[in-house]
Amino acid sequence: MPRPIEALIHTEALAHNLVRARQMAPDAKVWAVVKADAYGHRIEHAFEGLRGADGFALLDLAEAEHLRRLGWRGPILLLEGCFDARDLEVCSRLNLWHAVHDENQIDWLAAHKTTWPHHVFLKMNSGLNRLGFQPAAYRSAWLRLSGLTQVDEISLMTHFAEADGPRGVDAQLAAFDSVAHDLPGERSLCNSAATLRESPTRPQVRGDWVRPGIMLYGASPDHPEHGIAHWGLQPAMTLRSKLIATQTLAAGDAVGYGGAFKAGEAMRIGVVACGYADGYPRSAPTGTPVLVGGVRTRMVGRVSMDMVTVDLTGLPDAGPGTEVTLWGTGPGGAVLPIDEVAHHAGTVGYELMCAVAPRVPVRQVP
Ligand SMILES: *Cc1c(COP(=O)(O)O)cnc(C)c1O
Repeated sequence: MPRPIEALIHTEALAHNLVRARQMAPDAKVWAVVKADAYGHRIEHAFEGLRGADGFALLDLAEAEHLRRLGWRGPILLLEGCFDARDLEVCSRLNLWHAVHDENQIDWLAAHKTTWPHHVFLKMNSGLNRLGFQPAAYRSAWLRLSGLTQVDEISLMTHFAEADGPRGVDAQLAAFDSVAHDLPGERSLCNSAATLRESPTRPQVRGDWVRPGIMLYGASPDHPEHGIAHWGLQPAMTLRSKLIATQTLAAGDAVGYGGAFKAGEAMRIGVVACGYADGYPRSAPTGTPVLVGGVRTRMVGRVSMDMVTVDLTGLPDAGPGTEVTLWGTGPGGAVLPIDEVAHHAGTVGYELMCAVAPRVPVRQVP
């Protein structure tokens, strides 16, 4: 028998979360962001649940090819654009739309021999200070692009730094609008946080295309302020395994490497076939929530490479073979949001879902 760990990808949850994005951004088109192999869900397993999107946004040309092989004929957007001039040939061949965030990318376009002119998304750096033209350089970039025969449509985009927090999007929106307000073309501004928090009430933030990623996978962009229950999202991934052993501890017994946990009184613990080599965070301390047989309990002791140990107090029926839900949906429908596990481990749901290791079998379920 193979090791009992697996990741389930819930097709209906993905489709549900996509509907939530549409509800939050009425009339806008939706890019389903599927970079990083669909945030670790694997494009081939996420595709069916997300195929109701208006387009797919990603970074990697190989992932774009993968989507075309899966039969997707609609829009695909390269969020970082081309990495060198030859990528434009792939864009032409696969009909990929691409971001343009610096002058080099315009030079490559100007020299590119294409049969069909390209649809580009001109990116403004409105304050995140990663990619994009400064507001002061944005109009001249737009003018340069609009003079190229290689380009037939220019959309406008920017990306928010703090849409999930109290500072919100106002300063960046003002920077964007001050330069872009009279430029023609569709607009795309919102990540998940802005889609959920801003776009329902502010059409000028919503724009023509929203770009949700994390919310589609059933994690909240502004946890712990709001969890997935607040936003009406469902976990798209369940990481589950089984107990492979139990131990009975006396008061004072220590558990695991470094004796990081000591039993205060007699107790039973379970050993789960899941460790950091599966992508479970080693930084998750004692107290991190976990479901055993669908019942919430806690991790005890240090996460090791192939195993973690869990508190079985109050779970007398749990034993070898009992199902353990590291995150996602457990037996009986109990939900353990990935955000809660991430929070205990000092990180975000994004990192955990992207980190599921290659050795974990991934299976698509309805
Ligand atoms: C990753 C990404 C998104 C999606 O962000 P989420 O926080 O996952 O919704 C949107 N736009 C760009 C440019 C991105 O890189």
